[in-house]
Amino acid sequence: MMQLQGKTIVVTGGTSGIGEACSREFIRQGANVVMASIQDSQGATLERELEETGRALFVRCDVSREEEVQRVFQQTIARFGRVDGLHCNAGAWAKGTVEEFDDTIWDNVMGVNVRGALWTLKHGIAAMRDTGGGVVLITTSVASRIGFPQHAVYCASKAALEAIIRCMTTDHAGEIRVVGISPGTIRTPMLAATCEGWDKPVEELYDEVAGRIPAGRLGEPEDVARAAAFLMSDDAAYINGTIVTLDGGTTALPPW
Ligand code: NAP
Repeated sequence: MMQLQGKTIVVTGGTSGIGEACSREFIRQGANVVMASIQDSQGATLERELEETGRALFVRCDVSREEEVQRVFQQTIARFGRVDGLHCNAGAWAKGTVEEFDDTIWDNVMGVNVRGALWTLKHGIAAMRDTGGGVVLITTSVASRIGFPQHAVYCASKAALEAIIRCMTTDHAGEIRVVGISPGTIRTPMLAATCEGWDKPVEELYDEVAGRIPAGRLGEPEDVARAAAFLMSDDAAYINGTIVTLDGGTTALPPW
């Protein structure tokens, strides 16, 4: 079923992991997709691969820089003429306790996850307003609710995004539908990077974690993408101002 036919969706961080799977799924469901990320070579390859659909565009963009975000929307309008959906998905993380905090960590984690989302929302909403509104989807994380060791700044950035979702729901009522998607443990390059430096191979770590997840496995980017496509679609018209968790049951576990 082509749930997203005729819609134009901008996906930040749209060339890797969850974002790449969402870009592919949105296109499969009929949308025009603009993949905005800092991954020049992956972006060019993905754009070439999806070229025959005539509905994929890669735009190089560091979301923490306002002028680059503005350029994404200029190029989106030039190519597809409208914006119906924004998927704020680009993300960065840093390991360390608050005692290791410094400006670099703030700029990287808060700069990408929060400032980057805010620039995308600011300019994306202006573009969506021109054609009658649309849908905002923000990738948050179960990290907004769990005290992951040595991830205070990352967890704080995701909690900030969830607060922004709630505020936007009232600020843009009747115009923009705003939804969060909160993944648990999803097999992506970011997850692999967070596992570096442990005393066992990544696949062994994944097996251990999978054994503790009620669903019995890690999440795959495609699990998130299928849910994201539904949330972007008109079938989800009454899902607004809320955050949909996709964690295989992890946050339902008892605390022992
Ligand atoms: P990923 O494959 O590393 O994707 C993150 C993407 O964001 C990458 O393409 C990355 O590029 C890009 N990015 C980083 N800084 C950027 C910037 N300044 N401007 C534009 N793009 C930038 O990891 P992922 O797991 O799919 O992450 C996607 C989102 O899901 C993130 O928001 C993450 O926090 C969230 N999430 C992931 C999990 C999980 O278990 N994997 C769980 C919950 C939430 P580079 O690779 O070049 O840095």
